[in-house]
Amino acid sequence: DNAQPKKPDWIRVKAPSGKGYSETRAIMREHKLVTVCEEAGCPNAGECWSQGHATMMIMGDICTRGCTFCNIATGRPDTLDAFEPGRVADAVQKLGLNHVVITSVDRDDLGDGGAEHFAQTIRAVRHRNPDTTIEILTPDFLKADAGALETVVAAKPDVFNHNLETVPGLYPEVRPGARYFHSLRLLQRVKEIDPGIFTKSGIMVGLGEDRQSVVQVMDDMRAADIDFLTIGQYLQPTPKHHAVDRFVHPDEFAAYEKSAYGKGFLMVSATPLTRSSYHAGDDFARLRDA
Ligand code: SF4
Ligand code: SF4
Repeated sequence: DNAQPKKPDWIRVKAPSGKGYSETRAIMREHKLVTVCEEAGCPNAGECWSQGHATMMIMGDICTRGCTFCNIATGRPDTLDAFEPGRVADAVQKLGLNHVVITSVDRDDLGDGGAEHFAQTIRAVRHRNPDTTIEILTPDFLKADAGALETVVAAKPDVFNHNLETVPGLYPEVRPGARYFHSLRLLQRVKEIDPGIFTKSGIMVGLGEDRQSVVQVMDDMRAADIDFLTIGQYLQPTPKHHAVDRFVHPDEFAAYEKSAYGKGFLMVSATPLTRSSYHAGDDFARLRDA
């Protein structure tokens, strides 16, 4: 019922189709895996899946948080499935991925926030696919016991991603239950514990933030030694979710990207359809080979 700005023509979303798409889908079904591509209704699913890129979501499809931009169901999650790490490893092998992104719902119900399950998944994927680079996109472990983050870092993911999602001023309405400085500090600690791991974070724009706050977030991220940055347009998954405040013009994205490189980020993606995991593998390979 909120009046929404009209979708501009630079937001073009192709309906997912094609052979690659159905093959990826079949492998996910066969391994009983949840993907964030589907759960979040990602606009890039057609493109990513036809190329065998998918972001797998572990620890179920019910989240203990209720961020107002997110389409994942909130509630009491299921118990962990001890066979899931093995199924993820199998699926990565079948898809022949060079780079995999693994994410999860938030598990405030578990003492370690799901840290050990994340670590087991990383180890299983690496064991079966020694040449695949592994990127994890984790929750904030805000309520987890001490040592949770260390458990995940010890499994040595290649890229540790945790999204700040929005500017601090919008946290109460967009990301209730999370704390901006906790999330920032989480990423800084990853670097402190293991400087060999690349750290990554991202925000959505179009939620009501102003340009100055976006630039401030970039400075905060660099102060926390974050290496990679993604900025994309927020799209409202259903009318019940947070309203779109505005559609940010591609020129403004280009300006953010330029400014971010100037601040020292190693890799930046800032376009309307940028998502945390969009082209993550290609970008990472380019950086590694540079
Ligand atoms: Fe999935 Fe990420 Fe691609 Fe979206 S951008 S379809 S979430 S891999
Ligand atoms: Fe969605 Fe993550 Fe928020 Fe859960 S914590 S509601 S999965 S964005």
